[in-house]
Amino acid sequence: MSVSYAFGKFFVPGPTDVRPDVLAAMTQPMIAHRGPEFEAMFARIQEGLRAVFRTERPVYVSSSSATGLMEAAIRCAPAGRILALVNGGFSERFAKIADMCGRDFDRYEVPAGRAHDPAELRDRLAGKRYVAITVVHSETSTGVLNDVRALSDVARESGALCLIDSVSGLGGVPLEFDEWKCDYVLTGSQKALALPPGLAFAAASADFARAAKEVAGRGVYFDLGEFDQFAAKDQTPNTPAVSLLYAADAQLQAIAAEGMEARWARHLAMQQEVVEWTERLAERGISIVARPGERSPTVSAIRLPGGMTPRGFITEVRRTGYTLGAGYGALKDTTFRIGHMGDHTVATVRGCLAACDEVLEKA
Ligand SMILES: *Cc1c(COP(=O)(O)O)cnc(C)c1O
Repeated sequence: MSVSYAFGKFFVPGPTDVRPDVLAAMTQPMIAHRGPEFEAMFARIQEGLRAVFRTERPVYVSSSSATGLMEAAIRCAPAGRILALVNGGFSERFAKIADMCGRDFDRYEVPAGRAHDPAELRDRLAGKRYVAITVVHSETSTGVLNDVRALSDVARESGALCLIDSVSGLGGVPLEFDEWKCDYVLTGSQKALALPPGLAFAAASADFARAAKEVAGRGVYFDLGEFDQFAAKDQTPNTPAVSLLYAADAQLQAIAAEGMEARWARHLAMQQEVVEWTERLAERGISIVARPGERSPTVSAIRLPGGMTPRGFITEVRRTGYTLGAGYGALKDTTFRIGHMGDHTVATVRGCLAACDEVLEKA
């Protein structure tokens, strides 16, 4: 079966556009998830994911959206207080999960559109004992990139685990799980990895995985101890979304062929296109929410001048065949977002920006 579909016009920052050959991979027949064919595929997927996470550790595969592995991080964190770093909608979700899982937690909040400061984090961790911090690498709601390497170093100094959500980061932004001595990094399939939604991936350090196996009340479906045990035999604890794994198998091979360094460079080049576009239109009141030096290479939240609503703008751009993302959370009514991630290229981003120009000329 072939999928006929013109890739390159869908710029929602998750789910992002998926190539036709990856979509077509999902039409393969079922296989038993406790059989040799599955284990062989899972081993290939592990190899691909390890290259993306830059780790020798197993990478857990969850048939859930990314939020599931955020919840896993909280539920499997050892007893004690958590510090939630909040700077937008998704980091707020991490704090909410800590709250709803009944954890004691504090917030280190900075305004939406800003990044966290490692020195400030050091002060907060010195003042109180925390077992873990939660942090979002690329805040998809605002387009802000946190320096998770520095923040994770500071957490480690104080003996706190650093639980990193890199859902719109990993695959598009450098992250070195082993070299940076990360404790936990999770991502989702539908952002910079350019897969359909429905899978989530995470790596945990050996120490965190071991500690997770002792945590009371961690539940079943998001028990990292179970993921760890099953990953060792190239399996998942429960029936996985086999069709989505076919897509992951195909896409991870394409990612390996491109190479991570080339992928990161491509994302920077796409971001640069968007930055230059906003700079050209600065006089019209168009600007990027995130400040220079704190911008995510995978997603931009963009302010429109007064008089033009993002909702109306997105609708007009849609008529040209291009789909933009709406604003998210606190920025919902004042911004639109471009997801320049996954398998998009400088050429497809240029096409999208030309469509935006066409609409702006008429406005
Ligand atoms: C999309 C996203 C999530 C949530 O992902 P789901 O797959 O919808 O659960 C979490 N964090 C960030 C930073 C995201 O971009």
